[in-house]
Amino acid sequence: MIIGRRKFIVKATICGIYVIALLLIAKRVMRISDNFSWNNQSLPSQYSKTNTLRYTNLERYSSWLEEYEAQIIPGLGENGRPANLYGKEKLEAQKVLEEKALNILLSDRISLSRSLPDVRDPLCRNITVGVTSLPTASVIIIFYNEPLSVVLRTITSVLNNSPKEILQEVILVDDASDEDDLQGKLEFYLMKRFDTERVKLIRLPERRGLIRARLKGAKAASGEVLVFLDAHCEVIVQWLEPLLMRIQKKTDAVVMPIIDNISEETLEYYHDNRPEFFQVGGFTWSGDFTWIDIQEKEIVGRKSKIAPVRSPTMAGGLFAINRSYFWKIGSYDEKMDGWGGENLEMSFRIWQCGGSLEVTPCSRVGHIFRNFHPYKFPNDKDTHGINTARLVYVWMDEYKRLFLLHRDEFKDDIEEKIGDITDRVELRKKLGCKGFRWYLENIYPEKFVPDENVIAYGKVKMKERNICLDNLQRDEDKPYDLGVYGCHSRLYPSQLFSLSNAGELRRDEICAVVNLEDVMSRRAKVKMIDCRERGDEKEWILTDSGNLVHASTGLCLDGTGLTPKTDVYVAPCSNVLGQFWQFEFYSDSVTPR
Ligand code: UDP
Ligand code: MN
Repeated sequence: MIIGRRKFIVKATICGIYVIALLLIAKRVMRISDNFSWNNQSLPSQYSKTNTLRYTNLERYSSWLEEYEAQIIPGLGENGRPANLYGKEKLEAQKVLEEKALNILLSDRISLSRSLPDVRDPLCRNITVGVTSLPTASVIIIFYNEPLSVVLRTITSVLNNSPKEILQEVILVDDASDEDDLQGKLEFYLMKRFDTERVKLIRLPERRGLIRARLKGAKAASGEVLVFLDAHCEVIVQWLEPLLMRIQKKTDAVVMPIIDNISEETLEYYHDNRPEFFQVGGFTWSGDFTWIDIQEKEIVGRKSKIAPVRSPTMAGGLFAINRSYFWKIGSYDEKMDGWGGENLEMSFRIWQCGGSLEVTPCSRVGHIFRNFHPYKFPNDKDTHGINTARLVYVWMDEYKRLFLLHRDEFKDDIEEKIGDITDRVELRKKLGCKGFRWYLENIYPEKFVPDENVIAYGKVKMKERNICLDNLQRDEDKPYDLGVYGCHSRLYPSQLFSLSNAGELRRDEICAVVNLEDVMSRRAKVKMIDCRERGDEKEWILTDSGNLVHASTGLCLDGTGLTPKTDVYVAPCSNVLGQFWQFEFYSDSVTPR
């Protein structure tokens, strides 16, 4: 009896729970169906996992879409021409530009399928391709808080300019954006205006950074080739075919388009009047990507103006890679967070492990280069620095000394600061990859190594005074006057100078010349300029007694009477103390007295 009563209570409780649960479910279903009653269109299955649209009124999105499309000004920015807004709108647009590094209001007014100029070398137009014979491509576009119209234009231009036969799919990966526009409006637009079988959206539940966002996209992809794009790009006619053609021929080629610049202010699609002009990728010892001229060996051995050109590194955002090769060669370092460094990691890895990095000049894609990142990183973490330190420890062997000179915080307590790198070291072993010295000698022989093949390097100290040459933290991207500062007890990057075997008094990429404009006066300043500029005016001669003589003017580097934080100069050579300089290190042959 007692048992029977217990049974009854248990049964009644279970029934009650069922009833409540059923009521809750019914309520929820009613809400959903309420919201999805518009146009009899049901939610494509891929979106059903996301819940952005579920609880909102879709009518609202309908009128938004109408308004959005009505505000587009026909012809604005057509053929990639610069566009402008006027009056009050211009002022408003300017404010947004300053905040977000992109003229969003202007972008909103330009057609998503505006035309772009065919900026390719005319030779590219003669190539005929049977698209059906090409491998298929999955285009992966990742984004975090990018302006909606800019993202939509990226997708539209890919859809408009890629043959259906080879464009397997466009995979969008949202790195957990919190901007309102990228929630329901984005999904609504995709549903209404695109073929949702081909344009897929993956939402990451939390911000994972661009590296893991790309990995997520790659895992979902089914095309034979993965093509990665930033979310603020526009592709031009036949952009995809040359990438696929090259990969079809050489499976381990990682191929890049020429990246053209789209103005963040006027959305002009810039192009050089010389279609054959472009640059390839280099790097600095501080771990940054740089653009460099096409290497001599590439120009010499090139069959035609439109043949692929090898590049020591990649800029990162835009490239194509065979899908199985991507996984075989180690995809990305999954422990890299946020943004940055992954491009150099992939560059060194591809070259050192037997693949190649190439630019195919017939493929061109425009990218909006923003002046600053409009987004923040969680906890303001320096992900670029940490990611770079990770790659340095895995790929750069003894050359890590040069990076560590710039970033000495990564000299010790490594694991604590950059995390575990065992997997990546193992990967390098497993793939039997070559060393960094091999990379420098064979892939990037023109890369200047501050302490190799030099006469002297290190701090450059004035004799009997604690004054050293110093870049005074001046911006190295443009010419600046060389200065002096109190010598630091340790070697800091600002005081690292080399006297190369060719006689250049230089740093990573910049060389000392005499400012010829004031050479007639007795004290001419010393200018630091890009080493690729001018000819022999860059030569300096280190005498046995420690004078640094500027070869073409015969003047001596002179620091007489200088106080720290002032500019150094050259003067007629004389026997004054201020004209004697000591380098911190000398190669064996030269040791001044
Ligand atoms: N991005 C991301 N998560 C982040 C940071 C960036 O998904 O935490 C995306 C970003 O929206 C863009 C791409 O990664 O599509 C590359 O970033 P960005 O364009 O800012 O880099 P840049 O071109 O300046 O190197
Ligand atoms: Mn970008």
